[in-house]
Amino acid sequence: MPIKVLSPDLAAKIAAGEVVERPASVVKELVENSIDAGASQITVEIKAGGVEQVKVIDDGHGIPTEEVAIAFQRHATSKIDSQEQLNAIATLGFRGEALPSIAAVSRTVITTRQPLNPGGFRMELLWGEPVSSGSQGCPPGTAVEVSDLFGNLPARRKFLRSASAETSRVQEFVSRYALVFPGIRFRLMVDGRASFTSPGNGVPREALLAVYGPQAATAMLEVHGEDPETGYQVDGFAGAPSLTRANRTYMTFFVNRRWVQSRMLSFAVEEAYMGLLQVKRYPLAALNISIPYEDVDVNSHPSKREVRFREESRVFSTVQRAVRAVLVADSPVPSLAPPPGSDFPPAVAPSFFTRSAFGGARNGVGMPGYRGGDSGGTTDAAAPRQPAPPLRVVGQLKLTYIVAEGAEGMFLVDQHAAHERVLFDRICQKTLEQEPQSQPLLEPAPVELTPAQGDTLETNREALENYGFQFEPFGDGSYLLRAVPAIFGEGDPAKALLDVLDMTAFEGLVRQKEDVTAASIACHGAIRAGKSLTEPEMVALLEQLEATPNPHTCPHGRPTMVHFSSQHMEREFGRR
Ligand code: ADP
Ligand code: MG
Repeated sequence: MPIKVLSPDLAAKIAAGEVVERPASVVKELVENSIDAGASQITVEIKAGGVEQVKVIDDGHGIPTEEVAIAFQRHATSKIDSQEQLNAIATLGFRGEALPSIAAVSRTVITTRQPLNPGGFRMELLWGEPVSSGSQGCPPGTAVEVSDLFGNLPARRKFLRSASAETSRVQEFVSRYALVFPGIRFRLMVDGRASFTSPGNGVPREALLAVYGPQAATAMLEVHGEDPETGYQVDGFAGAPSLTRANRTYMTFFVNRRWVQSRMLSFAVEEAYMGLLQVKRYPLAALNISIPYEDVDVNSHPSKREVRFREESRVFSTVQRAVRAVLVADSPVPSLAPPPGSDFPPAVAPSFFTRSAFGGARNGVGMPGYRGGDSGGTTDAAAPRQPAPPLRVVGQLKLTYIVAEGAEGMFLVDQHAAHERVLFDRICQKTLEQEPQSQPLLEPAPVELTPAQGDTLETNREALENYGFQFEPFGDGSYLLRAVPAIFGEGDPAKALLDVLDMTAFEGLVRQKEDVTAASIACHGAIRAGKSLTEPEMVALLEQLEATPNPHTCPHGRPTMVHFSSQHMEREFGRR
């Protein structure tokens, strides 16, 4: 094909792809425009996950009638007009790309009125081309309505997830902005129903309450820190060490009130919690870093999600110190060892490891695989089942690994992964045999869920109930928990549900797992690294592991054991 310049239409579609990935990016761009317009109230309405319609209404300063058409041209902005300003950007927008990009891939209707003008103006565009415009009465501010997103780019539409998944991205986005702009009243309507409202009274803790709910919000500590040399400031909230989650998505960062994603900032926070959290547990945090505009480059990512800092290590240490300071003040003696029994329930009832309990499991040897259902089938139908070798326990290493000896040399078994495998198979087996595996709670426990957790719960409701959870809606995003899976022992039931939801959401994103919920339940119920095991417990665990159809990997696919062959050892010691 000869080289030629792309048609404006095609070029616009390509450029639009950079800015508009999905409904949540439309919401992001429109909400950022409303914030830049000085709005004090922003209403977001979405239908069918935002694909059918996204509407953002604000009470900001509006757009002069004669400039509306210009706003839809590429690189048209009122926010910067010189190179110097590009080096110190104070607004959320500046590239002049959002409106034209959104309009290029949808039907867009804008109505806008400057507060001092008596009347407003309306303009409609289809796939980027104006179809009508004229004066129209409307309240002061701007409303942008985007429908039929990617209607002219069917390939793009195919990449969108389910309406509920797209909705939860929008919910996440709106609630995070509510945290950092407590002075703005945000309202989110999903398919005609109110989904989230922030008070907009300027009180950060009340915004926090609206986003996280009373339970979590009261366990959040206020963070205020400043590096006297650079003047960098950190403000916001960090969870008390007792308040942890199973993944990193509960850490939110803003730089000059722009939501950013940054591994560096998560590390800075995790570093601050060093020694206070168990492995694989993550804190909650919502922090805004204020730094001089010229010390941060916001122009390094197409949708401005990532930023570059001039003094990265200064930012890191400012955040780490500010958070550490409140944590230390909150708990004056941070212990390096996890506080006994703090973060995890004694997940395994002691009887679990007795021989008799094991005897029961043993009957499962050679029994059908949990997914097969047909007798004699194994999980890996093609591969002949490879049983774990019979092992003799030598001892426990670092309270994490079981050292064992077999005919083939030495084995290091990861106690958590091994137990996870055992529990996973037990859960699936019981479900297959339709045995009840629920443990009713003496008193039902109320649990508050974030919109994203609520979404995970609803999408996986059947699996959660099959595996022993029982719950019912309790109004306002909360649920009443009535039973938990029997394998859970006596831990905090609410935390168990939250954990399982978070793990399910997380695993569900990274892989299409056949049974993510069961794996998450097994993971929550399994003994942790750091737990001392008696010899009979270790023996029992290995025997149960041996009885599973897939003893070599945990349900997440990680190895349960590593093997050092006798030959390898002999070679290493120069014996052969
Ligand atoms: P940018 O935000 O990068 O300037 P956009 O394409 O998002 O580019 O918007 C173009 C221009 O339209 C903005 O610079 C602003 O002047 C105007 N505009 C867009 N949305 C609004 C709004 N909600 N209220 C007032 N003005 C707006
Ligand atoms: Mg913009």
